[in-house]
Amino acid sequence: MTARIIDGKAAAERVRERVAGEVAELVAAGIHPGLATVLVGDDPASAVYVGGKQRASEAVGIAGFDHRLPADASDDQVAALLDELNADGRVSGILLQLPLPGHLDGSALTARIDPDKDVDGLTPLNAGRLALGQEGLRPCTPLGVMELLAGEGVELGGAEAVVVGRSNLFGKPMAQLLLVANATVTLCHSRTRDLAAVCARAEVLIAAVGRARLLGADAVKPGSVVIDVGMNRLAEGLVGDIDFEAARERAAAITPVPGGVGPMTIACLLENTVRAARRATVPA
Ligand code: NAP
Repeated sequence: MTARIIDGKAAAERVRERVAGEVAELVAAGIHPGLATVLVGDDPASAVYVGGKQRASEAVGIAGFDHRLPADASDDQVAALLDELNADGRVSGILLQLPLPGHLDGSALTARIDPDKDVDGLTPLNAGRLALGQEGLRPCTPLGVMELLAGEGVELGGAEAVVVGRSNLFGKPMAQLLLVANATVTLCHSRTRDLAAVCARAEVLIAAVGRARLLGADAVKPGSVVIDVGMNRLAEGLVGDIDFEAARERAAAITPVPGGVGPMTIACLLENTVRAARRATVPA
C-alpha cells in the first residue's frame, strides 16, 4: 500500500479562506478582530514564526499588533506589556512567542494572559477547561491535527489512537481532544516500553517528539492514518519524527514534513483569534 499524502498546505488554505469570510462578517458588524504578538529577544527562528503569524493575520483582515522587547527584558516588563494588551479592546488575541529567554518565568507570564484572549490555549484556565471537557480556546497545533483528521474523514469514535510525546504544548492537549472525540487514547513518552509495538496498535498515530525518524515501519499499523508533528532540522532539510518513506508503504494516509501539520498551526491561530473576538462580544 502507498499512502495518500495529506496536504496540509491545501487544508490550511481552506481554513484561511473560511477565517477571511468570518473576519469580513465581523468587520461589517463593527467588530474588528486583532492579534497581538509578543516577541522577547532576537532568536531568529522565533522572529520568523512571529513574522509569519503577523503576515497571515494581515492577509485575512485581522489587525496586527507586533510587540518586540529586548532579550534582557525583565519579568516585570513583559508582565506590564501583557497587562496592557489584556486591557486593550482592540486586541482579541495575545500570542506570547515561546520559548522565552532563560531568565524569564515562561509559565507565570503565560498564566498572566487573559484566558479569553489566550489564542495559544496554554493558560492554566484553558488547559483545565479542556481537561474538564468545557468550552475554551484550544492549542493551535492539536486543533490543526483535528482539522486534518476531519478533512480526511477519519472516524475517531472508538478508534485506537496513539500520541507520542506528552508536552503541555502539544501531546497532552492532543490526547484530550482525541478523547473528547471518543477515541481510545494512549499517550506515550520517553519512558514508554516497546514504543514501536504500542504505536503499531494505532489506527491513528500522531508523533510529536523532536527526534528525526524515531519511528519506522514497525511502528505503523497497515492501513492507519499517520500524523507527523515533529520538525527536525538536518543537513538534508526538515524531517519529521516518522520515517516517511518507510511509513508511507504501510499507512493509508500520512502527513509530509514539511507541508503537513506545520501550515495548520498558523491557520488555527487565526481561527482562534476570530473565535476570541466573537466571544468578546457575547455578554457573559
Ligand atoms: P517537547 O516539549 O520536547 O516534548 C517532547 C516529548 O517527546 C516529551 O513528552 C518526551 O517524553 C517525548 N520523547 C522524547 N524522546 C522520546 C523517545 N525516545 N521516545 C518516546 N518519547 C520521547 O516537544 P514539543 O514541544 O511537544 O514538540 C515536539 C516536536 O513537535 C518538535 O519537533 C517540535 O518542533 C514539533 N512541533 C511542531 C509544531 C508545528 O507547528 N508543526 C508545533 C509544536 C511542536 P518525556 O515527557 O518523558 O520527556
